[in-house]
Amino acid sequence: MSRRLERITDRMILTKYIQKSCILPAMTATSKADALKELTHLLFDKRKFDGVGPALDQILARETTESTGIGRGIAVPHARVTGMKQLACAVGRIPTGLDFKAVDRLPVQIIFLICYPPSEQTSYLNFVATVAKLLSDKTQLKSMLDAQSADDMFDLLEAASSTFTETHEQNVKKMKADPAIKKTPDGHADLMLLARLQLCQEMLVNTRTGKAEVKERIDNIRSLVEPRILNHYDKLAKSRPPALVPVEGDTCQGCFMRLPSKFVQQVRQDPAHIHTCLNCARFIYVV
Ligand SMILES: [Zn+2]
Repeated sequence: MSRRLERITDRMILTKYIQKSCILPAMTATSKADALKELTHLLFDKRKFDGVGPALDQILARETTESTGIGRGIAVPHARVTGMKQLACAVGRIPTGLDFKAVDRLPVQIIFLICYPPSEQTSYLNFVATVAKLLSDKTQLKSMLDAQSADDMFDLLEAASSTFTETHEQNVKKMKADPAIKKTPDGHADLMLLARLQLCQEMLVNTRTGKAEVKERIDNIRSLVEPRILNHYDKLAKSRPPALVPVEGDTCQGCFMRLPSKFVQQVRQDPAHIHTCLNCARFIYVV
């Protein structure tokens, strides 16, 4: 099996694609749709792009099939727009937070709305991966939330993406899955258990009542999972939640690295075993 990963996350200076005039530091929208509308119009007005209507339709349609809230209060709605020369992004900050049906159910506070020409799919993936990685750093995220103005937010993004180094990449990569995990018989059953476990743990965070009941369910599920797998799950859940993520279009939705197509195909064709991302070691399933 090829160990080579296509590097889509080489450093990218985010501010190359963001204009200061396209940053709104204090949005007051009270719905996801209003926020997306405001940002899309801003981007198209300021950058003098054509086709704001179809782009907005695409962005809203995408959100109804699946939220682009990637967790930790960040969302990355996007549209492919023919006729654009290169990717462009508008940034909106909502101090009060917005319900976005994000993966971790947390309200969204920073939106990176991205439009890109169809030929620039790789730039888009690279951009999203850079945003996700930069803001996975709690200090960076806090600075972005605390920044006083659009100028400050711009400067922070510029500095952060310029100094974003390989060291960070290597820290993230340090965890490797125990090779024995892949050989666990009946891995599919364990994967289903992990999915339920992850759901219950999210419920535990979000529920006000019935915590004891959820905890009991968690203990039940945990007693059924193979210990080696559970151990790896716990490490992931602690260091880089979520521990179990889908792979979409060959891209791991945990680390946003593109995985070799051949590997993804093997994962798809082998549901009897449990698989982990070659890059971030999260448990994966192919959708
Ligand atoms: Zn991954």
